Amino acid sequence: MTLRILVVGAGIAGLAAARGLRVAGFRPDVVEELPATTVPGAGIYLPGNATRALRLLGLDAPLRPLGDLIFRQMFLDADGGELFEIDVAALWAGVGESRALSRADLQQVLLTGVGGEVRYDTAVRELQIVDGAAKVEFGDGRIAEYDLVIGADGRRSTIRAKAGLGGPAVPTGQIVYRSVVRGGPPLSDWTALLGRRSSFVAMPMGGRRLYCYADETVEPGQPNPADPLARVRELFGGFGGPVPAILDAMEKVQVARTDEVLLDSWSRGPVLLVGDAAHATAPTLAQGAAMAFEDAVVLGEVLRATPGDVPAALARFEDRRRPRCAQVREQTRDRDRTRDVPPALRDPMLRRRGRRIFQEHYRELVRPL
Ligand SMILES: Cc1cc2nc3c(=O)[nH]c(=O)nc-3n(C[C@H](O)[C@H](O)[C@H](O)COP(=O)(O)OP(=O)(O)OC[C@H]3O[C@@H](n4cnc5c(N)ncnc54)[C@H](O)[C@@H]3O)c2cc1C
Repeated sequence: MTLRILVVGAGIAGLAAARGLRVAGFRPDVVEELPATTVPGAGIYLPGNATRALRLLGLDAPLRPLGDLIFRQMFLDADGGELFEIDVAALWAGVGESRALSRADLQQVLLTGVGGEVRYDTAVRELQIVDGAAKVEFGDGRIAEYDLVIGADGRRSTIRAKAGLGGPAVPTGQIVYRSVVRGGPPLSDWTALLGRRSSFVAMPMGGRRLYCYADETVEPGQPNPADPLARVRELFGGFGGPVPAILDAMEKVQVARTDEVLLDSWSRGPVLLVGDAAHATAPTLAQGAAMAFEDAVVLGEVLRATPGDVPAALARFEDRRRPRCAQVREQTRDRDRTRDVPPALRDPMLRRRGRRIFQEHYRELVRPL
C-alpha cells in the first residue's frame, strides 16, 4: 500500500526516519527549512546502541571509516586524578562499536541513505488534521495532504505545537560549550574531568582532532557568556590532566543551552513526533542520536506491519519506544544529579562505586530494541 508520508526536518532524526521508511518500502517527502549549504559544526559521540540501529538501517558500512573508535571512558577529578574507568568495548560487546566523529560526516552518511531527496529552504508553517489526513502548508504557500506526517523538527518543534501535542521544551539549566580542537595533546580515550557543577569532556574524533564538550549548571535566568572561549578558559583553567594543553590549542567555542521534552503522547491522528521533538534530554549520556536512530528502525517496522492502519502503527510505535526513552531521561537526570554533588562527597564515592553506577545507566540500552 502506498502511503503519502512527509518527514519535517532533515536533522539526525528526520534523515534517519526517512531512511527507516525507505528501507520499509515507503517513499517519503522530506523537507528542511534551512538551506542545503548548512553544515553542522562540532563532533558527536555515538555509543554502541547507535551503531546497532545504524546497522539495522543499513548504514553501518559507510560509517566505518569515519571518526575514531572509543574503547574506554576515563572519569577523572578536576585535578586529573583517576576516579574510575569504563571498558566501553566490553559494555557494548555484541551490540556495536562506539565512535566519535564529526557531525558533518554523520549528516553525509544519513543523507546518502535517504537518496538525496530532501527539499531544502522549505518550512512547514501550518498543519491541520482533517478527516484523518494531515493538511500541511509550506512556507511558500503550497498546500499538500498526507496520510502521515513525521515531526522530526527538533526540540522547538512546530509540528508538536500545531498538532497540540505539547508546548515549549523545558530548559535543563545547563550551558554547554563545544569545540573541535586541532593540535591538542594526543588522547586515545573518551576522557571526562568532573568539576563543581561542571565537567570537561574530550575525545579523539579522527583526523588528529579532539571533540571537546564542556558544561556548567547555572541559575535560572543566567545569560550565556558573551565570550564563550574566555568562559571555558575561566571555568576549566585550573583543571589538570590534558585540559591545560587542550585549552592552549582551543580556538573557537560554540555555546548552547539544553532542554528536555516530556510529552503525554507523541502522536495525534496521522501525526507522529520523533527524535528531540518527542523526547529531548540533556546530552549527558550521548543518547540523542541513538534514540533517533532507534525511532527510525521501529517506525519502519511498525508501518510495514500495518500500513493500512496508521493509528495502530503509531500506537505500537509509542508502546515500543516510550519505555526506552523514559529510561534515557531518568538515567540522564540521575547522572546529572550525581555530577552536581559537591566534589568532596562525590569523588570518594565515585572512586569506590563510579564504574558500577555509570555502567548501570546504559544497562537497559544494551538489550535489543
Ligand atoms: C551540546 C550538545 C551535545 C550533544 N552531544 C551529543 C552526542 O555526543 N551524541 C548524541 O547522540 N547526541 C548528542 N546531542 C543530542 C543530539 O544532537 C540531538 O538529540 C539530535 O541532534 C536531535 O536531532 P533531531 O533531528 O531530533 O533535531 P535537530 O537536530 O534539532 O533537527 C531538527 C531539524 O528540523 C528543522 N526544522 C525545524 N522546524 C522546521 C519546520 N517547521 N519545517 C522544516 N524544517 C524544520 C531544523 O532546521 C533542523 O534541521 C547533543 C546535543 C547538544 C545540544
